[in-house]
Amino acid sequence: MNIFEKIESGVRSYCRSLPVVLARGRGYHVFDEEGKSYIDFFSAAGSLNYGHNPPEAVAAVSNYLADDGIVTTLDLYSTAKREFLAAFEQSILRPRGLDYVVQFTGPTGANAVEAALKVARLKTGRSNVVAFTNGYHGVSLGALAATGNRGKRDGAGQTLNNVARIPFEGYVDGIDGLDLLERMLEDPSSGLDCPAAVIFEAIQAEGGINVASTGWLQRLERIARAHEILLIADEIQTGCGRTGTFFSFEPSGIVPDIVTVSKSIGGMGMPMALVLMARNVDVWGAGQHNGTFRGNNLAFVAARAMIDKHWRDRRFADALALKIELFDDLLIAVASKHAKHGCEARGRGMMRGLKFDDPEFATRVQAVALSLGLLIETCGPKDEVVKLLPPLIIDDAGIARGMAMLDKAITTAAAAPERTSPLQAAF
Ligand code: PLP
Repeated sequence: MNIFEKIESGVRSYCRSLPVVLARGRGYHVFDEEGKSYIDFFSAAGSLNYGHNPPEAVAAVSNYLADDGIVTTLDLYSTAKREFLAAFEQSILRPRGLDYVVQFTGPTGANAVEAALKVARLKTGRSNVVAFTNGYHGVSLGALAATGNRGKRDGAGQTLNNVARIPFEGYVDGIDGLDLLERMLEDPSSGLDCPAAVIFEAIQAEGGINVASTGWLQRLERIARAHEILLIADEIQTGCGRTGTFFSFEPSGIVPDIVTVSKSIGGMGMPMALVLMARNVDVWGAGQHNGTFRGNNLAFVAARAMIDKHWRDRRFADALALKIELFDDLLIAVASKHAKHGCEARGRGMMRGLKFDDPEFATRVQAVALSLGLLIETCGPKDEVVKLLPPLIIDDAGIARGMAMLDKAITTAAAAPERTSPLQAAF
């Protein structure tokens, strides 16, 4: 028995379907400890939008450390934090006309969601929150209450309170969740307590790559405004360019009151999380929400390096748009070639998925892809969606090679399902 299985908790999960021991990463490739290379269409669940070890971030962090740069500072002021905030304001907030204040929380996405829900409740004096079917917001108890996934919820060990669930767009044919929400808010005996906030993902990631339309998001914003409900956009997985724009809500023109950001904001996988808030929402008293690791200066340095490199002007976003076109074309071709397995292309930008009728088939595709040298994960209510999140810095050749491997993995999984098991057994 290997050391992982011997002493690591049974809670480990990704390693069960991707049983490789990784040692190195560069750009859109990772290498296991035997030196086998894999194209990474996983990106640590969206934490590596700029690829593995982007040279500018590595250099900035290495120089910072070589110069005895301070590493951890709680919420004390630091040079690295000042430079990150200045870059974030100048290249991200200002060009988008967003006048948000920034709260640094503990470094996980769930930390940011907890803080967002708390401040919304504090601001409005209401405890209820509306979340959507198939939404995923993390697994600490407050965030978990807003998360739909039953397996994760079953791990809570207690009742999860103060969240009402409304169907996301397209959840049930013929039922519009927003019609329901509006009706229930207006009906004094619907049983729905007026919520402090509505929390949503403009593209549900873990929930199966479900895209909300522009019209749906705009209507959600109108309903929230009419009832003085705060709008929380969870951009933890969709953010930092993943869907083609820095924030996934941008194309809809809506302006959320609160935005949660984590994962790729740390530039090179450095842990960091932010809550962005409209100024009138920032009702915190000093220290009312804190946490030791809110001052990860290595993350500030790496984040600033990536903002400066990619978001100062439109060049990165324009180049990304071209890559997305190629990715779209190849994905649609693969989906139509394998339509008999119920294969359906989903998503937007570089957040894409292929849904299959049979969740086990999706699992087999993932296993064969791994043996071919392609790293992918599955998502969706039953893990029936193969999720594709290549680093945004990938080139056309990498997209084409990865998609060819995916095509081959589907063909192989369909032809000889039993071929996937020796790989798992060999580990
Ligand atoms: N919100 C969204 C949309 C996510 O995708 C995730 C994680 O995948 C989270 C919140 C929770 O982030 P973390 O796992 O870092 O706590």
